[in-house]
Amino acid sequence: MNMDFASDFTMTINGRAAWATETLAVVNPATEAVIAHVPDIASVQLDEAVTAARQAFGDWKDVGIAKRQALLRALGDRLADHADEFALLLTREQGKPLADAAMEIGTGIYWLQEMAGQALEPDILSDAPERRVELRHVPIGVVAAIAPWNFPVGLAIWKIAPSLLAGNVMLLKPSPFTPLTSLKLGELAREILPPGVLNVVSGSDRLGPWITEHPGIDKIAFTGSTATGKAVMRSAAGNLKRVTLELGGNDPAIVLPDADVEAVIPRLFWAAFANAGQICIASKRIYVHESLYDRFATAMVDYAKSVKIGDGTEQGVQIGPIQNRPQFDRVRALLADARSAGTRFLLGGDVPEGQGYFIPIAIADNPDEKSRVVAEEAFGPVLPLLKFSNVDEVVARANDSPYGLAASVWGTNLDAAQAVADRIEAGTVWINTVQDLGPGQPFGGHKQSGLGVENGREGLLEYCNPQVIVRCAAPT
Ligand code: NDP
Repeated sequence: MNMDFASDFTMTINGRAAWATETLAVVNPATEAVIAHVPDIASVQLDEAVTAARQAFGDWKDVGIAKRQALLRALGDRLADHADEFALLLTREQGKPLADAAMEIGTGIYWLQEMAGQALEPDILSDAPERRVELRHVPIGVVAAIAPWNFPVGLAIWKIAPSLLAGNVMLLKPSPFTPLTSLKLGELAREILPPGVLNVVSGSDRLGPWITEHPGIDKIAFTGSTATGKAVMRSAAGNLKRVTLELGGNDPAIVLPDADVEAVIPRLFWAAFANAGQICIASKRIYVHESLYDRFATAMVDYAKSVKIGDGTEQGVQIGPIQNRPQFDRVRALLADARSAGTRFLLGGDVPEGQGYFIPIAIADNPDEKSRVVAEEAFGPVLPLLKFSNVDEVVARANDSPYGLAASVWGTNLDAAQAVADRIEAGTVWINTVQDLGPGQPFGGHKQSGLGVENGREGLLEYCNPQVIVRCAAPT
């Protein structure tokens, strides 16, 4: 298949290319240049996509899991054939450095292959000859995946792989800021999957609500902000759609007095600043024991000064721009607010004028716990370092948040670190590591960080309805 990665971006509806009368411009955040135009779907075309999916559902759910596993692996193989083109396109639309884009594509391929290895055996709850009770896991129907702009390919695949494996059919809606790689993924899928099984649609801000309100859609899998997640849930109530919501976080990292500062610094630096801080599980508040604080802060600033920021296509660049103008403005406003509140910055804090949505690394020096720079999710390269003096105090501060996505604890005495981790309110708590995820590992948020999980058997079951079959040998 010869794919044009430079200019030809079409939706995939019912296994065919689909254009629209209106288009949307896509901007490279490093240059602010328009790099492509994509279809802005009309509501009648969304209806066509939902109808096509519904028509494909019967055959797809009955084809058997072995066939679906094989086709998902084939999709992974085709993505691997085009990995370099996808990585370059991802950098151009998203801004992340080319090495990170290649890693996102590689991880997506790995996820497709690994998820395709999962089985969906029924659970036998009772196996007496006269009364057998079986719990089956049957597909839900038409699933819509609403993906964000920070990991457009990776987070789309987190939804596509389990949903299709379970026997559902899908619509994928990428963010209007990063639709290009998703549209190309749809193009690849046209050659592999039966028509209607995976439809990829692009559109402006009206498309999200059209999807969440659509009576022909049975489930929404959403990654994005907590505020939008709540809107999705409200709107999904119309026909009682199932929802999986992966939302915001304000992950604390706790550095205990016996932590190995030199070893921890690079891990926590990248946990905070990779992808320009635009990661739901970025470390967004680092609590450092007072006995280490000055040494830790100096080492973190030194490390930050060695990192190169720029256009992700340039050799050696490690951090790219903020992905889009509204997010750039939000992060700039947060920094301006911190400045006017008197926050001290050990590094950065100002945003120079220039081309591209670039924000220099900003490290705040022990700001007030209630300040916006601590209490809010920056979703940008802004990190508060905070001092603590005892474990009870730091646990209370870490848990004092509406979010509960993930957290990390760092220390040499594992039992002491574990004792702290046990008290943290979050969906994942890492000890001496961070952002450690896997296709077999359920991932989801507590509190307002989400609903349900992705990945692992629990994540796969989110794409199934439970169905109990009670079989009796004779009328009872
Ligand atoms: P949103 O959460 O608003 O949007 C995410 C996706 O949802 C987009 O595709 C968006 O499309 C869509 N959407 C928006 N409104 C609705 C709706 N009512 N119904 C259905 N879909 C909808 O993210 P933003 O881009 O506005 O970013 C804002 C904040 O979200 C960031 O500052 C960050 O804190 C957080 N965020 C978190 C992510 C995560 O990984 N958890 C990822 C991205 C952002 P459209 O743009 O067309 O409205």
